[in-house]
Order: sequence, then structure tokens, then C-alpha cells
Amino acid sequence: MDTLPVNEKQVQEAEARLERFAPLIMEMFPETVKYNGLIESPLTRIEKLQDKINLSDDCGRLYLKQDNLLEIAGSIKARGGIYEVLKHAEDLAVNRKGFNVNMPYTILGNQEYQEFFSNYKIQVGSTGNLGLSIGIMSAKLGFRVYVHMSNDAKEWKKELLRSHGVQVIEYAGDYGEAVKRGRLQSDQDPFSYFVDDESSLDLFVGYAVAAKRLKKQLDEEGIVIDRQHPLFIYIPCGVGGAPGGICYGLKLLYGENVNVFLIEPIESPCMILGISSGKYDQISVQEIGLTGKTEADGLAVGVASGLVARTIEHLLSGGMTLPDQDLYRFMKWFYDTEGIFLEPSAASCLVGPILLTENQEGKEYCNKYYQKDELAQATHILWATGGSLVPKDVKHEYFKIAEGMEQAKN
Ligand SMILES: *Cc1c(COP(=O)(O)O)cnc(C)c1O
Repeated sequence: MDTLPVNEKQVQEAEARLERFAPLIMEMFPETVKYNGLIESPLTRIEKLQDKINLSDDCGRLYLKQDNLLEIAGSIKARGGIYEVLKHAEDLAVNRKGFNVNMPYTILGNQEYQEFFSNYKIQVGSTGNLGLSIGIMSAKLGFRVYVHMSNDAKEWKKELLRSHGVQVIEYAGDYGEAVKRGRLQSDQDPFSYFVDDESSLDLFVGYAVAAKRLKKQLDEEGIVIDRQHPLFIYIPCGVGGAPGGICYGLKLLYGENVNVFLIEPIESPCMILGISSGKYDQISVQEIGLTGKTEADGLAVGVASGLVARTIEHLLSGGMTLPDQDLYRFMKWFYDTEGIFLEPSAASCLVGPILLTENQEGKEYCNKYYQKDELAQATHILWATGGSLVPKDVKHEYFKIAEGMEQAKN
């Protein structure tokens, strides 16, 4: 891991930075008091869902990392996205003089700083959730915010952003197009900062902080991870920053005792394609005849981040894909068994343990690296990447689609 473009120190700095901001976050968003101003999510044992997918005790135990419940943004983007905004705000404040990192960060929430930040713009290209996290946090600090979105982004996400005073700019093309155009506009303005999902190291390390937080939760639960007790992680992947950062952070802590699998829609497996072809960000899913279209809006990305692909290619255990029908089926299973609502993108994670234990290649992977008794002591964590901000009527629509699919099958 020594040759990678990131290092452990950067992750530690990110942890420290988030600690410094915690009093301000707590003041601005009182809902974060339960984690002392850190934006964190619970780890939940999901025994009933484990039964539902017939994952026997011989395979270990199934848990859910509930980033669907992350405060402020309701998705995994509350980790990297908010981190990058805070870092930028800190940089501006420190460069202005009159502020240094030893002062109380609650100062950055006062009127003077609201006015100071309002001289600056923050812009981002997004399929939805990144825009929500960047938009809500930046607007709260006083920045002027522009979110560039592809037109397939969900309408409710655009409306929610506008309600926070964010400018939403829509493009006819896909996500890559929105990023390109947004970046271009931002680069022409010296007072504008562009959050670049395709190549941001700050986003990446913001996500990586999740690993140590998870370790703390596992330790508190008395869950041991070592050679005899392996950890399996399944994370939905879009452009790659979130799963990549978390994968990197976990590898720092657990080395070969953690196995990280990415989950992608069958029509837009950009990371699997980028890594397996060795072309990283120089190949799109459209070039191999796929549509790039999926209802999993957070995962509708045709080209992976080159930075992330190169960083994690030797850290990952593998990638898995699933068809769109399964998104809705799984979403309903989460709800019916555990009463947990996940957006379709996030529900995709459930295919992970299913393929690992039922699919030929999955079984071969297990048998190659682990003994039977070790597998029985494994911990499997599905990373639930989003859901809590989805409005009621949209949820209702999703369930109608899921039920329609079940009836069509019977
Ligand atoms: C963004 C997102 C992902 C994937 O994160 P990337 O950094 O784009 O790979 C997964 N699930 C949901 C719900 C998301 O919003």
C-alpha cells in the first residue's frame, strides 16, 4: 500500500479535522448530538434478513452498516462530501488570517463567517446524493452553491436542494457530462471551488474515516476480526469514491482479514470494467455495448474514477453485478423483514452475500482463502448507502414497482 496516491496520515488528518468541526456541526445540526457532532451511523444485526436469503450459520453473521441513517444528507455522501466542504471552509478561514485551527470552530458559524463564505461559490456535478450533501452543508455555512445534475437525477432531490437555497443546473447528457460542464464553469471563476467526484482525494479520505469508526463499533460489540474470523464487506459502487475510500481505510486496519466486494448495476459496472480491462477511466460501459442506464441513480455512472480505480485495484476482493429488478426486490425484503427502508441503489448490497455463497465463483473464492470453520465465524457487513431522505410518495412508488414485479413473477 506504500505506492498508492493516499497514505494513512491523510486519513488521520481527516479524522482530526472532523473532530475539530464536531462542536460546530452539533450546533448547526442538533440531530448530530447523539454522536457528539460526528456524522455516524449504527451497525445493526439483521438476523431476519439473513434467514430470508437462507444464509446459514455456516456462513457467519450478517450485519447492516446503516449509512441510510446518516444525518444531514441521508446517504453515504454525508461522509466524503461534507468532509470536503468542511476542509475547504477551514482552508479559506485559515488563509484569511484571524482564524487558526486551535480556535473554537463554532466561530465559523457566526454572522461574520456567514458573510465571508458568501463571497465564495462551491460547485459540484452529481447524480443526486453528492449534490445533497455538498449542497446542504455548503448552504448552511453561507456559501453560494451550484449543483450540476444530469436530467435523470430524481426530481425530489432537485426540489430538496432548491429548498435549501441551492442553484440546480440540469443537463441533457449523462452524469459525466454534468461533471464536465460544471467543472468548466467553476474553473473560470477564481472564487469558485469545484468538488470533483472523479478525482478528489479529499472525498476519498473523508470516506476512509468510516473504517476506524466501524472498527470501534465492532470492538464494542465484541466482534473479533482476525485470520480465523474474517470480515466481508459489500458496498454499492458508482464512480468509486465512497466504496474505494472505505475499502482503503479497512485495509489499513484489517489487511488481508477483510474482503471488500463492490456491487454495480449490470448495465453500468464502470469500476469492474475499468479495473478488469486495465483501462481505468479510459473506457466507458457504453463502449462495451451496455446502456449505462439503471434505476439505481447513485450508481448510474459510465466511467469510473481513475484515481480510485488505480488505488483500489489490488485491495479489492472482487466485484458483483445485479439487474435492476433485484434492486426493488431487495428493497422490499429489507423492509418486510427488518422494517428498514433503503433506496434502490443501496438495496443492491444484498446481492453480495447471496452471490458469495451461492454462485460458483463466490464459492471458489471462499474455499480458496478460508477453511470451513473460519467461514462459520465470518462477519458480513452490507453497506446501506442511502434512503432516509426519500419522500413518502416516492417510497410508495418504489413499493408499487416492487409489488408489480412480484406479481409478474407469480
Ligand atoms: C454515491 C452513492 C453510492 C456510491 O458511491 P460512489 O462514490 O459514487 O462510488 C452508492 N449508493 C448510494 C445511495 C450513493 O448515493
